[in-house]
Amino acid sequence: MQKTGRKGLSLARRLYTSRILGLALGLLVVSAAVYPLDPAPWVWGFMLFNGLLWPHVSYQWARRAAVPYHAEHRNLLIDAFLGGFWVAAMQFNPLPTAVTLAMMAMNNVAIGGLRFLLVGAAAQVSGIALGVLIFPLASVPMTSPAQLYACLPLLCLYPLALGWICFRQAHTLGRQKRELLALSRTDSLTGLLNHGAWKDRLNEEFQRHLRHPSDATHGAIALIDIDHFKAINDTYGHGAGDVVLRQLGKLLRQNLRATDVIGRYGGDEFCVILPDLTLHNAVQAMDGLRERFATLGYDQDPTLKVSLSIGLAAFNPAYGDATAWLNDADQMLYEAKTGGRNRVVCQRHRLVLEASAV
Ligand code: GH3
Ligand code: MG
Repeated sequence: MQKTGRKGLSLARRLYTSRILGLALGLLVVSAAVYPLDPAPWVWGFMLFNGLLWPHVSYQWARRAAVPYHAEHRNLLIDAFLGGFWVAAMQFNPLPTAVTLAMMAMNNVAIGGLRFLLVGAAAQVSGIALGVLIFPLASVPMTSPAQLYACLPLLCLYPLALGWICFRQAHTLGRQKRELLALSRTDSLTGLLNHGAWKDRLNEEFQRHLRHPSDATHGAIALIDIDHFKAINDTYGHGAGDVVLRQLGKLLRQNLRATDVIGRYGGDEFCVILPDLTLHNAVQAMDGLRERFATLGYDQDPTLKVSLSIGLAAFNPAYGDATAWLNDADQMLYEAKTGGRNRVVCQRHRLVLEASAV
């Protein structure tokens, strides 16, 4: 409910400026068209109110409403109704009538699409009906040169203003869409890629290997899992567990290359694509990381030491898909766990680098 209110408020703010401009220029059009018809003083008064005061009244009305969106919807219908009313008051003078109706149609379609265009048209017809009752048709007037010139500012400036507003809105929406997309691909705790985004990158890397078979001997993926993480949570609390997860994310970012693709696979498991790296170099990089992580200290308890188990798999041209590659890395991680944890195990040579100090 609150969200709808806020949304309506921003719509009211947007319409405030365009209404001030549109109705001031519209006042010029209508007054030039009704002047030769010698209207009653109340018509001039009402025209001035509509052209100069109504934008402020309608904005305050919407701002103070429980749901500004609904209030603004009503204000737009009043705009359309009064537009129709002035068309009848102008005795359907061709150019001012066409300009008034066209500008309002443009406004309504920009705000509410076809549906609002039709609803606005119905309100205009009602306004015309009331106008015809008050100002019965005498003769069909011709547009004079003065009336033509009075239409030009509205004709030239209002589409420009509305186009600018629409452009700004599209720009904001585009930015928000990009931000949302980035958020949907990011793990909120560590700022790394999340599971889905990382797997997309893995698929891309796999396809790249297929396209360039000469690179087939280079490139590896690593699955990294924190040892006994549940016990850390149980002993020091989930807050401390989160600190450990963030530390690992930070360490990965700081120690790997910009071209390496780092993600959080889920829970206490992280994943890395190491493109263009021999398995030997990948093992060295991961083992260095394992050693560095094991020496990190934590405020929660200076004696707390956390170790990592890492499974590595190099690309193999025999893999049918990226999942097969991932499964090999997973199998190596499993072997690292069952082999005693705190170690790097890689497929191909079943090379095992064990911790010496931890
Ligand atoms: P192993 O050495 O075999 O990996 O044991 P483990 O305890 O690390 O493995 P397990 O999969 O049993 O535990 C992972 C735990 O991670 C369980 C879950 O409560 C915890 N966890 C998952 N996501 C988060 C998180 O975002 N924050 C914290 N603090 N804990 C998490
Ligand atoms: Mg674990």
